[in-house]
Amino acid sequence: MKLLEERILKDGVVLGADVLKVDNFLNHQIDPVLMEAMGNEFAAYFADKGITKILTVETSGIAPAVFAGLALGVPVVFARKHKSLTLTDHLYSSTVHSYTKNTTNTISISKNYLDETDTVLLIDDFLANGQAAKGLIDICQQASATISGIGIVIEKSFQRGRQELEEQGFDIYSLARIRAFEDGIVKFVEEKGNN
Ligand code: 5GP
Repeated sequence: MKLLEERILKDGVVLGADVLKVDNFLNHQIDPVLMEAMGNEFAAYFADKGITKILTVETSGIAPAVFAGLALGVPVVFARKHKSLTLTDHLYSSTVHSYTKNTTNTISISKNYLDETDTVLLIDDFLANGQAAKGLIDICQQASATISGIGIVIEKSFQRGRQELEEQGFDIYSLARIRAFEDGIVKFVEEKGNN
């Protein structure tokens, strides 16, 4: 998505070898105009998949997920991160190792908001090693919900997440795919028809 790539080049900051900081429009300050355009892009791609619900993880997945939900006309549920082991009542839970923070969180969704009648689109801000996506997949499997796709705002294609998820048969649509960071400059995967 050209608009997103341009914004990454303008405002993204490469930290260390493999982390991109996008606090200016996605992870801290949020640009609603860009979020709306991204939501529409996800909705167009997944329009004919019969999606009944969007699932994401707090916090940074929520903004793009809500705009995709608005465009598709379906509710958005975000998994909560919590540390308490006693809060397991009526919840689907999974553990997720955070790539950027080097911590492990339990993520949970109330059983009230996901069941076997749901066809789910998973959305997240980044795809790196696929840990967050795998946690959400685990939760959907516990609920016997169908997963019809994964929508990612920024994919770091040099990490292993896409490959592992594709091997499991998932359809992944990323709005921006980063091939590499070269001397602190973001290089995108060249794709035909990338608009
Ligand atoms: P994964 O679970 O695929 O290994 O990593 C994705 C999760 O880690 C995302 O939910 C995101 O919050 C965080 N993450 C991974 N890489 C980056 C990055 O380069 N920048 C930022 N801001 N977050 C990242």
